Amino acid sequence: MSVHFKKLALIGIGLIGSSIALAARRQGLVEVISIATRRQETLDEARELGLGDIYTLDAAEAVRGADLVILCAPVGAYGALAAAIGPHLEKGAILSDVGSVKEHVVRQVGQHVPPGVSFIPGHPIAGTEHSGPSAGFAELFAGRWCVLTPTEGVAQADTDRLVAFWRAMGSMVECMDAAHHDMVLAITSHIPHLIAYNIVGTADELETVTKSEVIKFSAGGFRDFTRIAASDPVMWRDVFLTNRDAVLEMLGRFLEDLSVLQRAVRMGDGPALEALFTRTRAIRRSIIDAGQDSAAPDFGRPHEQPPIPEPAPVRDHGGGDDA
Ligand code: NAP
Repeated sequence: MSVHFKKLALIGIGLIGSSIALAARRQGLVEVISIATRRQETLDEARELGLGDIYTLDAAEAVRGADLVILCAPVGAYGALAAAIGPHLEKGAILSDVGSVKEHVVRQVGQHVPPGVSFIPGHPIAGTEHSGPSAGFAELFAGRWCVLTPTEGVAQADTDRLVAFWRAMGSMVECMDAAHHDMVLAITSHIPHLIAYNIVGTADELETVTKSEVIKFSAGGFRDFTRIAASDPVMWRDVFLTNRDAVLEMLGRFLEDLSVLQRAVRMGDGPALEALFTRTRAIRRSIIDAGQDSAAPDFGRPHEQPPIPEPAPVRDHGGGDDA
C-alpha cells in the first residue's frame, strides 16, 4: 500500500519525534512537516537540524491542516496537549502518539478527540538512552516492532494507512488492545528499567564499596544496567506514574520469583539455579533468532585492543578476592 500524507504534525521533537521526521522525509511519506515543542531552544535546535518545514511553540497552530498528527512528548504532558490541539484537529485526520504506555493515553487524550478524527495510539518499541532533537536517526525503527492500539469506531482504512506509514519507516507492526500492550510492556520494558534504576541506585549508596570502585570494576552485568538506568528521567517517571497497575502486578510476580531464587542461593540449591539459568539462556537465544539483538560477544561492542599498561603494584584492601 502506498502511503502519503500532505502534512505531518509532530508535537514534541526529541529522540522519537526527530527520528520520525528524518525517516518520513527520507522515505517520501509526507509533503510538509510541522514541528511544535515547548522550549524555544529545542525548536531552534530542530530548525538548525532541518527536521521540518514549519516550526512553532503553539501546538494548536502546528496541527492546523495536518492529516497526520503524532504526539511525541512525555506521556505526562499528553492531557494538556490534547486539550490544546483537540479543537484545531482537521476532520479526517489521524491522531496518533508514540507513548510507552497506552491505556492512560486512551483515557487522557481520547476525551479531547473531536468526531471525524481517527485516534490510533501507537508505541514504537525502539529507542536509545539519548534524548533531544539531535539524538534522532532515520534508521531507529528499522527491524523494530511498532504496536498500534486503534480505538473503537476507527475506520479500518485509517488503521491500514498508519500501519503502512510505520512499515515504510522500516517497522514491523502489530495491532492489539491497549490494556494488553501495557501488561506486555510492563514485563519486557518497565520492570527491567525499574530493576536497573534500583541496582545502580543501590551500588551508588553502598558504604563499604566506594563509588570509584563501582565504576572501575563494572563488569558487563553492572555496566549494561547503567546504560538502561541512564534513560530519560522524565519519560520514565511518567511511565511508572501512568502504568501503575500493570507494573505492580508484574512486580508482585517478580518479587515472588526473586524470593524463590533467594532461597535457592541460601540453601545452596545448585540444580534449581542451573535449571533457571538454562531456561533463561534459551530465551536470549530466541531473541537473537528473532533478529531483535546481536549474537556478537558483549552485545556487539567494538573491541579495539587497548595498549597494555605497565604492571601496577598490588594493593591490599584486606578483603576477599572478588575477581
Ligand atoms: P525526549 O527526547 O526527551 O523529547 C521530548 C520532547 O517532548 C521534547 O521535544 C520536549 O520539548 C517535548 N516536551 C516535553 N514536555 C513537554 C510538554 N509539557 N509540552 C510539550 N512538549 C513537551 O523524549 P523521547 O525519548 O523522544 O520520548 C518521547 C515519547 O516517546 C515519550 O512519550 C516516550 O514514552 C516515547 N518513547 C520513547 C522511547 C525512548 O527510548 N526514548 C521509546 C519509545 C517511545 P522541550 O525540549 O521543548 O521541553
